[in-house]
Amino acid sequence: MDIRRYGLLAFTVIMVAVPFLPVPDYWITKLNYVGLFGLVALGLVLLTGIGGLTSFGQAAFAGLGAYASAYLSVKLGLSPWLGLLAGLAVTVAVALVLGWVTLRMSGHYLPLATICWSLALFYTMGNLDALGKYDGLLGVPAIQFFGISLQEERRIYLLIWLVAIAAAIAITRLLDSRPGRIMRALDVHRGGGKTMPEAMGASTFRHKLLMFVIAAILASISGWLFAHMQRSVNPSPFGIKFGIEYLFMAVLGGVGHVWGAFTGAALVKLAEDQLQTWLPALLGTSGSYEIIVFGVVLVLVLKFAPNGLWPSIERLLPARRRRAIPADAPEPLPARDKPTAGSVLLEVKDARRTFGGLVAVNGVGFTLRAGEIFGLIGPNGAGKSTTFNLVSGVLPLTSGEVWLRGERVDGKGAREIARRGLSRTFQHVKLVPDMTVLENVALGTYLRTGSGTLAAMLRTDRAEEARALAEAERQLRRVGLGDHLHELAGNLALGPQRLVEIARALASDPALLLLDEPAAGLRHREKQALAEVLRQLKAEGLSLLLVEHDMDFVMNLTDRILVMEFGTPLLEGTPAEIQASEKVRAAYLGTEH
Ligand code: ADP
Ligand code: MG
Repeated sequence: MDIRRYGLLAFTVIMVAVPFLPVPDYWITKLNYVGLFGLVALGLVLLTGIGGLTSFGQAAFAGLGAYASAYLSVKLGLSPWLGLLAGLAVTVAVALVLGWVTLRMSGHYLPLATICWSLALFYTMGNLDALGKYDGLLGVPAIQFFGISLQEERRIYLLIWLVAIAAAIAITRLLDSRPGRIMRALDVHRGGGKTMPEAMGASTFRHKLLMFVIAAILASISGWLFAHMQRSVNPSPFGIKFGIEYLFMAVLGGVGHVWGAFTGAALVKLAEDQLQTWLPALLGTSGSYEIIVFGVVLVLVLKFAPNGLWPSIERLLPARRRRAIPADAPEPLPARDKPTAGSVLLEVKDARRTFGGLVAVNGVGFTLRAGEIFGLIGPNGAGKSTTFNLVSGVLPLTSGEVWLRGERVDGKGAREIARRGLSRTFQHVKLVPDMTVLENVALGTYLRTGSGTLAAMLRTDRAEEARALAEAERQLRRVGLGDHLHELAGNLALGPQRLVEIARALASDPALLLLDEPAAGLRHREKQALAEVLRQLKAEGLSLLLVEHDMDFVMNLTDRILVMEFGTPLLEGTPAEIQASEKVRAAYLGTEH
């Protein structure tokens, strides 16, 4: 067993033992708050730290959970457990609607929307007679747990920490799974985004929405526990101030690290108390001076430890052991029917694409047959990448058609085209830098696997995961990177990174592989290694569309070549024919200096 698991087990045992030990009530109360706040911050670790989506509205989701259960138990006398279910239902519904509206928009819309949502809910809670306006609801009953009343702080403590630890484990598991890998590839602030996951066949919108809903659920459960611990609710703990405080905790503890959420919650809750005692005494006047200190601390953390404090704590812990690859190879993932050699695989007909007034691609057409390497070359700005994006579904065509394996695919979008067997790499490498090489390549198996979020949290996905990782390993060995499985992708040089991208594309079991300038920026030796890999792939029967600027690189590699210039086809032929052409030489000399 991983030594870290012993650590987690020990932590759990200690946390469970605490209320049975002569720990003063003061500390039990504190720890209850740390658990409750940590639970909300945990949602932000997922949403903000992993997904790069900032929300100020988590306190409002906690409010939904709290008020729903408080209302039902106070006014209708229902069990808090029914209240929990009702709260979760309302939370999920609201999160889906909010997420649906805002998550498609880019940049600052989500944070702004969560601020609005937070303010709206706060004033709604404060103004509804049924919810007791700003006084809230009193007389909220305690939770009954198998006949035991969790009225005492030491009792609800157990429920809070069991939920908190279970949630932390569930999120840790989620991040190490099929949907988790997609989630980790989304953050635009860490080189992620939309294009790569979509090219792997995953809906980025769905995964963002999922993260948003999970974060809302965690907040809602925290709110429910809070309401029944306090035995009353009022709007103030669910306002925007707390929304900001949760974000502060997540950032301070280490946004992006599961246990950072609890580290942050603990530090803030403990420091808050001390500061509230000491600062007014020191300054001689009363006031919420701790807020100023927190503001300063936040600026310092962002400047000097942007990953928060958890990474420093984690360094003191024993290293995580990488998951061993099982000795007896699991059953391979399902493979697709391969096109017969020589059959038409890809057909581009009279493709045209304009950007405003600029005609980037015009009248481009070619046919690629199964088993060949087709080269698309041309000087910079010739329209190669645009053509590549038209074929792979990243850009819609202005006019023209693209056929893949006898089906018309233009207008279908990158995910659908990936599903039909087209896989690609990127001119500007798109790997998840803080994920291992193996995990990055496993991203490519997305369409060949099916485990979802719940399976990941419950670990019922392990058999399939083993198959996905075995496939990733096989593809890495295929491109000669078998010795780098557990390195972080961000630590590799550009040459090996390009090969990782090829392995990731291969992991989807493609019928056709598209490579966008795979040799760009590589050193001579790296280019040779790459050419060797591509030759071997062709020998294994794979079909390749190679978009390249480097003439020498494609000459010895391709069966046929289309030369483009100013967005139009200049000449199509064998490498020898292309090499002999005056027109092509002139085109290259004309634009290159
Ligand atoms: P290549 O890959 O052959 O170097 P590109 O396909 O990237 O060429 O570009 C072809 C032309 O289209 C260039 O003039 C480029 O500036 C223009 N272009 C490409 N993408 C866009 C875009 N998203 N918006 C506007 N112009 C673009
Ligand atoms: Mg290009």
